[in-house]
Amino acid sequence: MGSKIGNKERVITPARNDCIEIRGARQNNLKGIDVDLPLGKLTVVTGPSGSGKSSLAFQTIYAEGQRRYVETFSPYMRQFLDRMDKPRVDDIRGIPPAIAIEQSNPVKTSRSTVGTMTVINAYLKLLWPRIAHAFCPSCGREIRPETAQSIAEQVLRDCVGKNILITFWVAVPSKTEPRKFFDFLQQQGYLRIWIDNQVVRVDDPNPKTKRLGARVQVVQDRIAITGENRTRLVEAIETALRFGKGQVNVIPVEAGVSPATSKTATDSATTTVLPFSTGWHCAWCGLDIRSPTVGLFSFNNPLGACPDCRGFGRTIAIDLNKAMPDRSLSIKQGVVRVFRGAEFGESQKDLLRACARKDIDINVPIEELPKADQDFVVEGERRSGEYTDEDYEHDRWYGVRGFFRWLESKTYKMHVRVLLSRYRAYVTCPKCNGSRYQPEALNYRIQGAAVPSLPSQRGGLETASPCLTLPELQALSISDARDLLRAIECSPNDKTAQMLRDEICARLNYLREVGVGYLTLDRSTRTLSGGEVQRVNLTTCLGASLANTLFVMDEPSIGLHARCWSIGARDAQSPRQRQHLAGRRARRTNHPRSGQFDRSRSGSRRARWRIGLERRAFEFSTRW
Ligand SMILES: [Zn+2]
Ligand SMILES: [Zn+2]
Repeated sequence: MGSKIGNKERVITPARNDCIEIRGARQNNLKGIDVDLPLGKLTVVTGPSGSGKSSLAFQTIYAEGQRRYVETFSPYMRQFLDRMDKPRVDDIRGIPPAIAIEQSNPVKTSRSTVGTMTVINAYLKLLWPRIAHAFCPSCGREIRPETAQSIAEQVLRDCVGKNILITFWVAVPSKTEPRKFFDFLQQQGYLRIWIDNQVVRVDDPNPKTKRLGARVQVVQDRIAITGENRTRLVEAIETALRFGKGQVNVIPVEAGVSPATSKTATDSATTTVLPFSTGWHCAWCGLDIRSPTVGLFSFNNPLGACPDCRGFGRTIAIDLNKAMPDRSLSIKQGVVRVFRGAEFGESQKDLLRACARKDIDINVPIEELPKADQDFVVEGERRSGEYTDEDYEHDRWYGVRGFFRWLESKTYKMHVRVLLSRYRAYVTCPKCNGSRYQPEALNYRIQGAAVPSLPSQRGGLETASPCLTLPELQALSISDARDLLRAIECSPNDKTAQMLRDEICARLNYLREVGVGYLTLDRSTRTLSGGEVQRVNLTTCLGASLANTLFVMDEPSIGLHARCWSIGARDAQSPRQRQHLAGRRARRTNHPRSGQFDRSRSGSRRARWRIGLERRAFEFSTRW
């Protein structure tokens, strides 16, 4: 093909730096074609199947760009790099390092998502510990490790003009007489404890307190909150924190301390105790949460992955539609398929007996039974949540699910494994709802304006409102996620957080601009179409701010709307980054790279393509 041009006497001209000059390409069935491709432009190679588009785009242009780039490495490095065969071409000039983005979706693991593929998740897991706020999973209050200074500041702000007690917890050894314990405290220099909402002196010769709990609050100091007492306050808090193992309580001794705190008092007669903790700990609920480490925010890390699905977002479980495939059958007719045979016929008898006890009609199709009866058949009668030996003794129905649970404990038998495999299917992980993260990761949220999800009860001295967890952010469309992250406030002192945020936003923006802004970061890569995979891959390269690079793409419009493709084209041509892009459109089938070439029918096709290509080459040369 292109033989006429190719055979013309070739004039050796000095290399121009505004185009890739290909001379005498003979790869596969190319007939020595000459073509100039402009740099900094989107070039589309079209033609019917088998006309040699791949031979030109991938096996000639890409192969040469890649080969020359690899040549620049040391021989030691080269052994680790894939090298392509030298293309059959007379000369190629002005070729930049090439990156091929193919439409085949090589991703097999279901741990791969748009977020991991574009490395946005890697940035998110670094960003999250910096910008997310922790909230108690039980009461919804914000948790942040306090210092003596930060506690003092809150107390000075909210309890000004009041008298406060600063107390810390001391464990009481079991079976300790109050008198003995009081003597011990006295020896340590502590004279008062806070018990039953009042101060009790430990040097009282006849203490009213007859019994002590597992721990008591020892009063460190009583302070009137004014600006002058600041130093004394900080010192008292520091000491209390030291003896209280990082926990301290502030007790305003007059009622109605401040509007912010009185709200939380459930009983107005009870004095509000304001607990503080220096750890990742909800001082109100006595609950520890995991500290925000990078690993916690990655589902590819054992720390962050949901323990049930190990970060895959789905688990294998018994599929009820397979266990009871035909719901128009009655119980008597054997609606539970596995009970029909002789092997588990005993279970059918158990079910019939249970139905007789519960007055469940075994002669009507199960789909016509009341919901409660259907649930009974499936879930069984469980007293304590789990079916126990005692339930078995009393002949209580274990349910279809209970039957399969029992069967799953017998998987050491080969035939049981085979049997189970027939009733199993992938289901969304019930523990994490497909979010892949472990519950501890969900304690951390970022604050944004878009999504209202305020826990109903909040209080203490906190004012902030929680918003999005990491999986919730990843479930937003890429366009929405970008808008949200852009609006996120980073501490002006935290340059790293700002850098990470900007990096993520830039990548989200690329994704949007190449026309896949409708995808979500948690979208499994396996489910992407060929065109989507290429665009997401392209973003990875663009995200690395790789300039002066030749991108060779294989049918980047596969699986996308025409509108999306036009957006992508515009972006590739934008002068912001000088990417050069050779695209290719062809049918997916009969891939010419596989070496198959339909010679019998190729003549007319080749002719057609030649015309197309010559015209294009002409257009390129006139434009430049
Ligand atoms: Zn709490
Ligand atoms: Zn899970």
